Amino acid sequence: MQSINKIEEKLKTLRADYMSRRDAIHKETWHTEQAVEKDFAEQVTQRENDDVLDALDDDAKQAVMQIDNALLRIKAGNYGICPSCGSPIPEQRLDAIPYAEYCVSCADKAQ
Ligand SMILES: [Zn+2]
Repeated sequence: MQSINKIEEKLKTLRADYMSRRDAIHKETWHTEQAVEKDFAEQVTQRENDDVLDALDDDAKQAVMQIDNALLRIKAGNYGICPSCGSPIPEQRLDAIPYAEYCVSCADKAQ
């Protein structure tokens, strides 16, 4: 098991990453909103672009929420324990997704 301090550090770095990604997305959206539209085709492209950015922003927002939850679980002392079945989440999974809340089989069942 990695030390919990290292995991916490990793989560905070990841969180900062997602936050700056969101910043960049917001700047992009603001920029395109200010742009003067020329014709319908361009408006459609613009709209699609905004939808993609919105989806990316949503993903980043979800990830930040999950990271915050993981940080709370570290504080509460139940990080790495699946809240659904109570089994420890394998280190490999936490390595790949440090903010994973559920073990693989419970995450699969939830989908
Ligand atoms: Zn589980």
